[in-house]
Amino acid sequence: MIDRRKFIKSLSSLGISLPLLSAKSFTTTAKNKKMNNPIILCSRGKDWAEDVLKPGWDILRKNGSLLNAIEKSANVTELDPRDTSVGYGGLPNEDGVVQLDASIMYGPNHNCGSVAALEGIKTPSSVARLVMERTDHIHLVAEGAQNFAKMHGFKIENLLTESTRKIWVKWKENLSDKDDYFPPADGNYDQERTTGTINILAVDKNSDIAGITTTSGLAWKIPGRVGDSPIIGAGLYLDNEVGAVAATGRGEEMIRSCGSFLGVELMRNGRSPQEACEDVCKRIIDINGGPSKVDFNDKIVALSKSGEVGCAAIRGKKGQEPEVATWSKKGLKITKGTYLI
Ligand code: ASP
Repeated sequence: MIDRRKFIKSLSSLGISLPLLSAKSFTTTAKNKKMNNPIILCSRGKDWAEDVLKPGWDILRKNGSLLNAIEKSANVTELDPRDTSVGYGGLPNEDGVVQLDASIMYGPNHNCGSVAALEGIKTPSSVARLVMERTDHIHLVAEGAQNFAKMHGFKIENLLTESTRKIWVKWKENLSDKDDYFPPADGNYDQERTTGTINILAVDKNSDIAGITTTSGLAWKIPGRVGDSPIIGAGLYLDNEVGAVAATGRGEEMIRSCGSFLGVELMRNGRSPQEACEDVCKRIIDINGGPSKVDFNDKIVALSKSGEVGCAAIRGKKGQEPEVATWSKKGLKITKGTYLI
């Protein structure tokens, strides 16, 4: 297998130069920056940050495995039934079936793995890691992904909790007055569609970078829908010479803008992580024809090789700015990001 450095070297020996792919300018800038490594980041604010980041930080601070650190942190939300947008207890698709999406990427070998529309496994990010480490593929979906997980000893379980089953029934009964379901008895159905997802990004003491995005996706999605979270370059992307970018929110926009890839390339070309997050949001607004056409949200988080953090959302409100949490030698820190409209 040819690695990326060898590939670029072989192109340059043929006289082909790739100025936009060169990591040189970024690494020179990064060297001049004060390193804040190791550091682990999650796309959640104060309500979740400590629980999620602690297991990962405990590994990183002892110079343990970078991949173990991000996986352990991702598993916290995946296994927690109180979170209705990730893993066990995530809201189901329109048929009441929980279908999970997750991806993982590892900087040192630029490898990645992902699963989509995976049913019955509480920790899809762990399955994505096995796709990366134990196969020559990158993306497994649906039954194939589940069979692969079973082969590796994962238990098939019902991921719908009593609480999410009731929320789903209410949604179904409230859908139309032209069907035979009576409307929800208590009449106070919450119309908002739940979004969520969690991104975990980390840089270890060697300045190597890794990341995970994991989700149950959009609630009530059409069965088989795949969001941005398992698509490399959409819901997650990183480059070991530059940094990592990941997203939550309306996945279709991240897919059609290649948003996470775009963010990393912007950082490579000199934008700070914060500027890169804002530029990705701006690109999505532009693609949609301007602020007046945007009635959805996406939130982008970024972490540079030197441990600098960025966070921006398309939409927001004063006092409800998007948040990102990090844990480094300086302790647990919640940072408020920006929003564009
Ligand atoms: N990005 C996820 C998806 O589209 C959902 C979310 O983050 O809320 O599947």
